[in-house]
Amino acid sequence: MNKTLLLNEFSKIQDDDSWYEFEKRHFEILRDVPSKDLDEIDREYRRKPFILNGILWKPVPKCDLINEDIKFLHWKLRHEIFARLDPEAAAENAAHPERYERWCLYCGICTKEISITTCPICEHELLNLPLNDK
Ligand SMILES: [Zn+2]
Repeated sequence: MNKTLLLNEFSKIQDDDSWYEFEKRHFEILRDVPSKDLDEIDREYRRKPFILNGILWKPVPKCDLINEDIKFLHWKLRHEIFARLDPEAAAENAAHPERYERWCLYCGICTKEISITTCPICEHELLNLPLNDK
């Protein structure tokens, strides 16, 4: 998948139907997600919260084997298209940062400390994880 072409195509989407088609075409892989084996999943769920630089981080179990870059891109585009197609709802969400945790998809950790924008471990951008979405 060429990311420049993909983003160019993405920038032209103006309605739900074309987003649906786009998502189906480029992110089909996320529909049928291969799982880790049970031992690995068990290990994911046994990870403990920890404090780093005075901030509490909680584990977010990573139970599938999908490439993180694809998941990250999909997550970003999904939020961007939501803001584009439903700006009022997106503004409403943005006005309530307390409804989210900051989440590193790569490390599988999250924090309620909303001022943090990059992961202290891997330096990837943190995403907004809705509190009711786990
Ligand atoms: Zn990280």
